[in-house]
Amino acid sequence: MGDHREEREAGRLVYPVLSRRSGGLSVGVNLFPDRKLCNFDCPYCEVFLSSEPGPRGRGFDPRELEEELEAFLERGYAEAWAPEPVRDLCISGNGEPTLSPFLGAAIEACASARRLRPGLLGAADLVLITNATGFLSPSVSALLEAAVAREGLVIWAKLDGATPDAFRRMSRSRYALEEVAAGIASFASRSPVTVQTMLCRSGGAEPSLAELEAYAALIGRLVEGGARIRALQLYTKARPSPGEPPGQETEGLGDGRLAELAALVASRLPIPVRAFGASGELVLP
Ligand code: SF4
Repeated sequence: MGDHREEREAGRLVYPVLSRRSGGLSVGVNLFPDRKLCNFDCPYCEVFLSSEPGPRGRGFDPRELEEELEAFLERGYAEAWAPEPVRDLCISGNGEPTLSPFLGAAIEACASARRLRPGLLGAADLVLITNATGFLSPSVSALLEAAVAREGLVIWAKLDGATPDAFRRMSRSRYALEEVAAGIASFASRSPVTVQTMLCRSGGAEPSLAELEAYAALIGRLVEGGARIRALQLYTKARPSPGEPPGQETEGLGDGRLAELAALVASRLPIPVRAFGASGELVLP
């Protein structure tokens, strides 16, 4: 059984993958088949470069998503994946999904597929992976809040770094840590989120203990302030990244080290902390 991320990279709208964080088969939905679109430039990003022309040459079409979902669920699954259970339908793909005008249509297509196939998808989560900047938009927040309430949408919101310097280094964006954290706090005061955070070496250095303490303190303040953060997912880099600047290359942490750092964070917080290394989910010491 292989990893089918190349289907996303080739411009497919639906791409099944074995996902560490999903715990098995995840059916990815790609809102950006023609080119990467993101307001972050994370150094560890696995998606091809924004400046490169897309592999498919045409954009997202909700009807094509429905057709590709139908084809996968009717034939592709049985041919290549059965009896592996589908853990989730996951909206992410080549960029930041909340930047797409088709986000609502994609959520509805996935929710509809789940309603139509309770046997295959009844236990599958509907997941959105976001860099959390959409929470700064009232219209995106309202769309997501409605989807959480109506469809049980599960949101995995990225927060890479809890000092201004770490956040800038990991997002390489125009966004400030304070505004993204405030957006998470505001949204999560109304709807639950899972926060996910990349821990990796950058330019040869792993996250400092001061950064990890700042991270645990920030999450702790958000939770104390009423943010419904269901869990933290700490993970590390698993695949090469295109276009990393020389001297600032990112590199995954070993399972043992990631588990140690995750245990440190977990010891400071009242919420579940899960860690995902090269071998899958890790048992924390
Ligand atoms: S937010 Fe996601 S898609 Fe955007 S640059 Fe970071 S890793 Fe890549």
